[in-house]
Amino acid sequence: MTDRYEVIVCGGGMVGAAAACALAQGGVKVALLERFNPERQWPAEPIDIRISALTKASQNVLEMVGAWPCMVQRGVCAYRDMRVWDARGGGELHFDCADTAFSELGHLVENRTTVAALWDMLDTLPSATCITPAAVVDMQLNENGRQLRLEDGRILEADLVIAADGRDSALRSMAGIAVTGWEYRQDGLVATVSTEMSHQSTAWQRFLDEGPLAFLPLKNGQCSIVWTLRSETAKSHLALADKDFLQVLEQASGGILGKMLDVGPRAAFPLRFQYANRYTDQHFALCGDAAHAMHPLAGQGVNAGLLDAAAIAELVIQTKREKRPLSSSRFLRRYERWRKGDNLVMMSSMDALNKTYRVTDGSFVSLRSAGMNQVNNSALIKAYFNHYAMGLRDDLPKLAKRQICW
Ligand SMILES: Cc1cc2nc3c(=O)[nH]c(=O)nc-3n(C[C@H](O)[C@H](O)[C@H](O)COP(=O)(O)OP(=O)(O)OC[C@H]3O[C@@H](n4cnc5c(N)ncnc54)[C@H](O)[C@@H]3O)c2cc1C
Repeated sequence: MTDRYEVIVCGGGMVGAAAACALAQGGVKVALLERFNPERQWPAEPIDIRISALTKASQNVLEMVGAWPCMVQRGVCAYRDMRVWDARGGGELHFDCADTAFSELGHLVENRTTVAALWDMLDTLPSATCITPAAVVDMQLNENGRQLRLEDGRILEADLVIAADGRDSALRSMAGIAVTGWEYRQDGLVATVSTEMSHQSTAWQRFLDEGPLAFLPLKNGQCSIVWTLRSETAKSHLALADKDFLQVLEQASGGILGKMLDVGPRAAFPLRFQYANRYTDQHFALCGDAAHAMHPLAGQGVNAGLLDAAAIAELVIQTKREKRPLSSSRFLRRYERWRKGDNLVMMSSMDALNKTYRVTDGSFVSLRSAGMNQVNNSALIKAYFNHYAMGLRDDLPKLAKRQICW
């Protein structure tokens, strides 16, 4: 027997679960398929190494779909300041929430917290069905929409399939959508560290020759580090004994948080610039990393994905409200126009920043630092960057503006 839904979301990470939640809040009959049953409970310590900086716009989306209170209960950490400086040239940027209308610039949240809160919410929504473990192994187009075959042989059908199955998206390949991009040959090394000095609810980022080193504040006083390194360096840093790693980290930090006291498990993620050449096909749309993978230096990947999720949900709900079929390609074209341009601007900016800070030529470095200082001294330009980084751009989906779309 074939189970039929209006929408099937494949991939129950942060983006797919948010899309499913928004759709189900709007009364859409939606199934969320996820290969691995997500973790729902864990001890308070240690804090997981996979952390994301979530913007104000992402917080709005998560609040509107009903997940944010549960995230707060599980633990989030507000950051109120951001300090960025160039180790080579001495340029500095300082963003302070006091210069905005908000009491914080954003929040640091364990990825598993966001996922668990969304899945908890989905459990309460009658039009949502969560199916896990469920790995999609085949997708076909037929006269009724899309048909998916799961690893265990089950067959599901929907008017629309949303692929949120990550940057190596199998569904994207099944739909025949090609990608453009390249490997950075850099890794993002992540770990949780204890530092001598308090993080002061500040996100610190020091640009070094191989890439930026970020110290992100956590709710228990520790910091999550995201250290962009050449892949070979990341590999050798992973192999160091803890005390040796702490020593190289302390040196790289420029002593900004004093001594590095302790480090938990470390992991490194190869970084890639990649975008899908198309975001949609017949009865099919891409969301999140399946559509775009970007450099994490400004922590924008999942924030962009949550805007995709809010946008596609809004358009599906609107199409249904207008009693138009979900097979209509009009709203899919609109989704692609809406999100692809915004994402390309964001990912190209991250790419340009990464390249700019890897240049070591003396005169360029002086120019770069002078530019940073100039931005820092201009309230107007700084306010623009701050607003942009907080995700508060023009043309946001309704949920990101705290407006109901159902
Ligand atoms: C070091 C590092 C630091 C980062 N920091 C930040 C940050 O601070 N802020 C930020 O915004 N972004 C950050 N990012 C980016 C962010 O982690 C990603 O953008 C985000 O995780 C993408 O979420 P997603 O739901 O699209 O994909 P994923 O998290 O990859 O989820 C995809 C899901 O699909 C499931 N799946 C895959 N294939 C199938 C299948 N065939 N069938 C069923 N299920 C399937 C997977 O199990 C997974 O659960 C960072 C990335 C890195 C590497």
